[in-house]
Amino acid sequence: MTIKKHHCQVCDTDFDSDVCLKVHFQTEHICMYDGTQLMCPKSYCNKTWPNAEALRNHLISHYAQEILFTE
Ligand SMILES: [Zn+2]
Ligand SMILES: [Zn+2]
Repeated sequence: MTIKKHHCQVCDTDFDSDVCLKVHFQTEHICMYDGTQLMCPKSYCNKTWPNAEALRNHLISHYAQEILFTE
């Protein structure tokens, strides 16, 4: 039995789920920081957040909706 790991190729970390990996990636690696605010990487969203924790929680809410639609 093999458990598929979701691997971040940037920082070499494994995650339990695809959502965890996406949230990690978009929070840690591709978020845009203008000096004071972190920007949501979703192009249709454009919300900004004061810290990575707030952005992470926000991204989880994006993916929570996707999970509802795909499962
Ligand atoms: Zn990473
Ligand atoms: Zn967003």
